[in-house]
Amino acid sequence: MSELDRARDRSPVPRDWAYAPAPESRDVVHIDERYGHFVGGAWLEATETYETISPASEEPLAQIGQGTAHDVDRAVAAARDAQQNGWSSLPGAERAKYLFRIARILQERSREFAVLESLNGGKPIKESRDVDLPLAAAHFFYYAGWADKLEYAFPNRSPRPVGVAGQIIPWNFPLLMLSWKVAPALACGNTVVLKPAETTPLTALLFCDVLRQAELPPGVVNIVTGDGRTGAALVDHPDVDKIAFTGSTEVGKAIQRQLAGTGKRLTLELGGKAANIVFDDSALDQAVEGIVNGIYFNQGHVCCAGSRLFVQESIYEPLVEKLKRRLETLRVGDPLDKNTDVGAINSAMQLEKIKELVAAGEAEGAEIYQPPCRLPEKGYWFAPTVFTNVAQSYRIAQEEIFGPVLSVLTFRTPDEAVEKANNTPYGLSAGVWTEKGSRILWMAQRLRAGVVWANTYNRFDPSSPFGGYKESGFGREGGLHGLEPYLRFENE
Ligand code: NDP
Repeated sequence: MSELDRARDRSPVPRDWAYAPAPESRDVVHIDERYGHFVGGAWLEATETYETISPASEEPLAQIGQGTAHDVDRAVAAARDAQQNGWSSLPGAERAKYLFRIARILQERSREFAVLESLNGGKPIKESRDVDLPLAAAHFFYYAGWADKLEYAFPNRSPRPVGVAGQIIPWNFPLLMLSWKVAPALACGNTVVLKPAETTPLTALLFCDVLRQAELPPGVVNIVTGDGRTGAALVDHPDVDKIAFTGSTEVGKAIQRQLAGTGKRLTLELGGKAANIVFDDSALDQAVEGIVNGIYFNQGHVCCAGSRLFVQESIYEPLVEKLKRRLETLRVGDPLDKNTDVGAINSAMQLEKIKELVAAGEAEGAEIYQPPCRLPEKGYWFAPTVFTNVAQSYRIAQEEIFGPVLSVLTFRTPDEAVEKANNTPYGLSAGVWTEKGSRILWMAQRLRAGVVWANTYNRFDPSSPFGGYKESGFGREGGLHGLEPYLRFENE
């Protein structure tokens, strides 16, 4: 009996029993039938609307405003007015009070936000409850702390606000991306026009209620909903001083082209194809947890997802075996069930993209493994997937899938691991699993990735900067570095 078989005997996977349903109640959330845009502290009636749905059931949730160039123009005017007539000249300690208030209200209303986030986006409630909401509040707390300390953060450089920031966010972490963008902008004395993603506008719209509760002056934060056209109108607006964008590399490049020569500032947080590298001296069970968290967290809709697993050849077989067994224990289903590990794919379009890339992986010759799991009939679902036998040239090893799909590759030496890991147009994140501290440092110096996690994965903290190299974008969000894009410095 092999070592692995003995281990399996001691801890059998419980296949023949099921978890009882543990649904979180929806009653805590109220959704209006129709929403307009939040401009100058009031609701602006939308001239055109579209329907937002729950991706887990395809149930319609509300009618959402499709923002026009005119709506964007009104929002930018409101933001400019608020910036010039009070917000930018408010002492930092006063601005901080509002940010602290917002943070506390988010904590108080976290259950409501978590349920709404899972309902509209499809992510498991245990993730929105335990990750998205605590981190969103933490960002406001963190940047509230900086608001009156900017002179100390940038000594002798006289930091001043940039002005009006246009912010465009994706659908994978709707409220969290909002807080990554809004908190530092406000702390530095800017005002904001934010466009949420088309498929996940509801928590941003509920956030408007938090702004009112916090008595934030009208116009400091404006929210205009809509699809890519609304985003493009915001990028194009001549009175916006800075654009902050998180989303696909393709749209990021288009925005960069659009802004070339305008003098507007830009930060881009784009796609990724991160390498999660496991050496033969690592704690394998711990590594398996990190691999699972790295790629199946939020259905793999994560820009820094560990989508390429590099395993040292000598441990390839036991590691893949352990990984497959662990996959069998993942519970896929209702995002509002507290037991669910993997929720719904965010949209029909994203599901199509995942299916297309998975089919390409099979056609190119990779070996697919999916654990037995029953997927709900309605809604958009994809089973957790592992590909072995993957060559570096395959599309599944090159392109961002943005779904619960892992490609496993191998390496022999640390040099080879670095070379293969860096063989990508992206450079957002990486993971290293080894018990040797010196090797972690050696690897971190050579990996072209904005974030390198050691013996862990997908850990976030507001005090830690996040951002990419190469086609993963430029600029940093989080930490002291996250203040800089929202400041200009006199005589610089
Ligand atoms: P997009 O880059 O299109 O979306 C990001 C945000 O930009 C959304 O708010 C979107 O609006 C908006 N937008 C779209 N077009 C424009 C434009 N021309 N000018 C300004 N803003 C625009 O990503 P998708 O949602 O289309 O996803 C496509 C792929 O991108 C995914 O499959 C995934 O691979 C990748 N992606 C990566 C993310 C990351 O964090 N790295 C996040 C999201 C997606 P709208 O929602 O209406 O499209």
